[in-house]
Amino acid sequence: MNTGGTGCAVGSNRAAEVAARLRGRVCADTVVRVCEPLAAHTTLRVGGPADVYVEPASEQDLSLVLKLCREEGLPWLVIGRGSNLLVKDGGFRGVVIRLAHKAFARIEVVGTELECGSGAMLKDVFAAAAAHGIAGFEFMDGIPGTVGGALRMNAGAMGAWTFDLLERVRYMDAAGAVGEAPRAQLAAEYRGCTFFDEHVALSAVFRGTAGDPAQITARAQLFRQKRQLTQPAGPSAGCVFKNPPGAHAGKLIDELGLKRARVGGAFVSEKHANFILTEPGATAADVLRLIELIRERVRTERGIELETEVRIVGEER
Ligand SMILES: Cc1cc2nc3c(=O)[nH]c(=O)nc-3n(C[C@H](O)[C@H](O)[C@H](O)COP(=O)(O)OP(=O)(O)OC[C@H]3O[C@@H](n4cnc5c(N)ncnc54)[C@H](O)[C@@H]3O)c2cc1C
Repeated sequence: MNTGGTGCAVGSNRAAEVAARLRGRVCADTVVRVCEPLAAHTTLRVGGPADVYVEPASEQDLSLVLKLCREEGLPWLVIGRGSNLLVKDGGFRGVVIRLAHKAFARIEVVGTELECGSGAMLKDVFAAAAAHGIAGFEFMDGIPGTVGGALRMNAGAMGAWTFDLLERVRYMDAAGAVGEAPRAQLAAEYRGCTFFDEHVALSAVFRGTAGDPAQITARAQLFRQKRQLTQPAGPSAGCVFKNPPGAHAGKLIDELGLKRARVGGAFVSEKHANFILTEPGATAADVLRLIELIRERVRTERGIELETEVRIVGEER
């Protein structure tokens, strides 16, 4: 049994059995591992292992994985680039599914519509749109995630949101069956579409507008410059907190003097107070304690309850 050495004390025998059963069902191209460190799959670079980790090579294999999870009563979690994820130090007791295989990264352009696999990176969606003179995708360029993550989060920037462009999605339900839904059937809000907590996004059709390629590139360049001026480089998950109604989380945190506040290897950015950065050696517990410290200060001094935008998953160590 390969337990990867550390961290998989809980359920490791079961994980190895589940992985063996899975390998017996899926094709050789599908990656199945036990005790996979999730820190390596998140931009915050902290967090413990997944008991079982799968990169399905096809929709059929994804369906087989979900069916096995159902049979075994195992929790599953689908992840994209991990750029909005905080995995706790104990890791995830169940199956983590990452749609990193090229089968999920297809981008097809027809007229002003782009059909994008949910594993496609947003910057590649923008690049494809720009190459075909399709405007509206410029805000996606600087968001370091996938289409699947952008649908779950209704990711947005520079005044535009993912759902502004969305026409329809294909998805897989927890029983492994494929369905399709137009945007009107999906309830999306600021930084969220909870439909995707129970359904895996497979692909999405977005519609832009015909535009001048030079203007599209110039707009994206402007957005890039804005980001460089206002956002820090280094391991983070972007904005940690949602903006509360009528206020900016970053401004509130800054006003309370919390820039550079630190717990262990996690600290609030000097450049943007809604960003928490990590140093090598940081733990998820450091990040979580810093999040709590900020929430406590904002609650007691401003009477505002900050909600995290970052998705927090997994178990304490
Ligand atoms: C430097 C930096 C800048 C950022 N700037 C922005 C910004 O301007 N605007 C913004 O909105 N966000 C921003 N983010 C956050 C993040 O990039 C977005 O939320 C992005 O959409 C997450 O995509 P992901 O693939 O990384 O998703 P992940 O972090 O892997 O997952 C996020 C959520 O989506 C779910 N999910 C992922 N794939 C699927 C799927 N196929 N089906 C169903 N659910 C799925 C996961 O279960 C999880 O709940 C930033 C992050 C960083 C690090």
